[in-house]
Amino acid sequence: MSLASLPVLDHWIDGTSTPGSGTRLGDVFDPALGTVQRRVRLGTAADVDAAVGAAVKAAVAWGESSLARRMQVVFAFRELLNARKDELAAIITAEQGKVLSDAAGEIARGLEVVEFACAMPHLIKGAMSENVSTGVDVHSLKQPIGVVGIISPFNFPAMVPMWFFPIAIAAGNAVVLKPSEKDPSASDWMARLWAEAGLPAGVFNVVHGDKEAVDALLTHPDVASISFVGSTPIAKYVYETASATGKRVQALGGAKNHMLVLPDADLDLVADSAVNAGFGAAGERCMAVSVVLAVDAVADALIGKIAERMRTLRTGDGRRDNDMGPLITGAHRDKVASYVDVARADGATVVVDGRDITPDGDPNGFWLGPTLIDRVPTTSAVYTDEVFGPVLSVVRVSGFEEGLALINAGQFGNGTAIFTNDGGAARRFQREVQVGMVGINVPIPVPVAYHSFGGWKASLFGDAKAYGVHGVDFFTREKAVTTRWLDPSHGGLNLGFPRND
Ligand code: NAD
Repeated sequence: MSLASLPVLDHWIDGTSTPGSGTRLGDVFDPALGTVQRRVRLGTAADVDAAVGAAVKAAVAWGESSLARRMQVVFAFRELLNARKDELAAIITAEQGKVLSDAAGEIARGLEVVEFACAMPHLIKGAMSENVSTGVDVHSLKQPIGVVGIISPFNFPAMVPMWFFPIAIAAGNAVVLKPSEKDPSASDWMARLWAEAGLPAGVFNVVHGDKEAVDALLTHPDVASISFVGSTPIAKYVYETASATGKRVQALGGAKNHMLVLPDADLDLVADSAVNAGFGAAGERCMAVSVVLAVDAVADALIGKIAERMRTLRTGDGRRDNDMGPLITGAHRDKVASYVDVARADGATVVVDGRDITPDGDPNGFWLGPTLIDRVPTTSAVYTDEVFGPVLSVVRVSGFEEGLALINAGQFGNGTAIFTNDGGAARRFQREVQVGMVGINVPIPVPVAYHSFGGWKASLFGDAKAYGVHGVDFFTREKAVTTRWLDPSHGGLNLGFPRND
C-alpha cells in the first residue's frame, strides 16, 4: 500500500478532529510487522495556538464548575475506560509493540491515577485556622492553574499521559497533550472517551507532532505548566526552555536502574525478578532493570539461573501468546543490538545474544531477543548509556559498599532495588542510595497513585514528581485568605506591621 493511501490521524482540538494547518506527516509503524500502518499530522505553532486558545476558553467554565459535576465526568471516564480497556490495549500493542497483557498492565496503572483523581474533592480541601489573631481566621484554597501542557514518550502511550491529565482535569484545568508521534493513536482514543464521558469541548486537546509542536507549547504565553516525560537531554531542554518563560515544569528523564544482589538473597526470586524487570516491554521501560550488581560469591549461580529462564522466553508479535514484543523502530533496534558488539569489544562476556532468536512474527518486525552480558566494565558505553532495550548487564561487585557506591556514582537516579534478607543492609540501602524510587526485594518499584512517581538527579528536572500529592500541588495554586469581620471592638488606625495578638 502506498503511503498516500494510508489513514491520517488528525489533532483533537475543541472537541473535534481537525487536520490543522500543517502539511508535514509522520509515519506510524506496526513494529511487529515493520511497516507503516498510518500517518500522523505533525502540528505547527498555529495548531498549538488553536488548541491552547480552545483550552483557555474551556478552562474558565470548567474551573468554575462544581466539584460534584467535575467528579461525575472523571468517574464516567473511569467507568468507560475500565469497560473498554481491551480496545485501548489493542491500539497500544499495534503501535508500541508490547504484548497485550503488558498493554493491559499499563492501562491498569493509568486507571489507578484516574481513581485517585476521583478523590479530588478531598485532596483539594484547603486548611482552616480559626482565631489566628483576635477575631481573625485564615483559610487556604487550592485553585486550578489554567492550561496545562503534557508531552509524553513512546513507551507508555496511555499510562504516562494518565499520570497527569486525570489530576489536572479533576482539579479544574484544561489540557493540551502532545503525545509521542511514534504511537499517537492511544491519545486520540482517550480524547474521544473524555467526550463520551461528558467532558466539555476544549478541556482535553491533543496536538500531534514533533519538536515544532513541543517548542510552541513550551513557549506559549497562555500555558501555565509543562509536564514532560522522555529522555534526559530533552527533559533538560524542556525544563530550561519552559521555566525561562515562567511556567511550572516537571520534566522526567531517562534512567539506568541497578539491582543490587547480596549473597543472602533468594536467588530464584532474584532471577525471576531480573528477567521480568529486564525484559518486560522489551526493556523499553524507564523503570526496567538494566544492570544487575551481583556480589561475586553468587554471581555465577545467579547468571546460570537468569540464562536458564531467558531460554524459555518467547519473543514475537504481541497479539499472539508471546512474552516480549518488538522494539519501537528499526533504527532503535539496530542501535540497541549494536551494544552487544560494543560490550564484546570492551571485554565483556556475551552470555545470551538476542540477535540469534527466531521471532514468532513477521520477519520484517523490529526484533531483538533478550540479551545477557556478564562482566561489563563500568567504563563501557553498555554500562554508562541508557540502552532502552532487552539488554541486561551484569557487573560483579565485592559487596554492599561497592554496589552502593556504583549506584550513587551514576548520572541517573530513577529506580533501584536491593535483594537481600538482611534487614540492616536493606535499611542502610534505603537511607543512603541517591535514587528517587527504591525497591526492597521488589524489582520495579513504581509507586501507587497516592504516592508520587519521580527520580532524582538527571531523571527529574523540577521540584514536583508525577501524581500523588505532588501532582495535586503541581496542578493547583494555593491561596491563603485572612479574614476579619468587623465587630464592635474594631480598633481604628494602626500603621504597624500586622501582628497576631
Ligand atoms: P524522547 O525524549 O525522544 O521523546 C519524548 C517526547 O519529546 C516526545 O513527545 C517527542 O516528540 C518529544 N521530543 C523528541 N525530541 C525532541 C526535541 N528535540 N525537542 C522537543 N521535543 C522533542 O523519548 P522517547 O524515546 O519517546 O521515550 C523514551 C525515553 O523516555 C527514555 O529515555 C525513558 O527513560 C524516558 N522515560 C522516562 C520516564 C520517567 O518517568 N522518568 C518514563 C517513561 C519514559
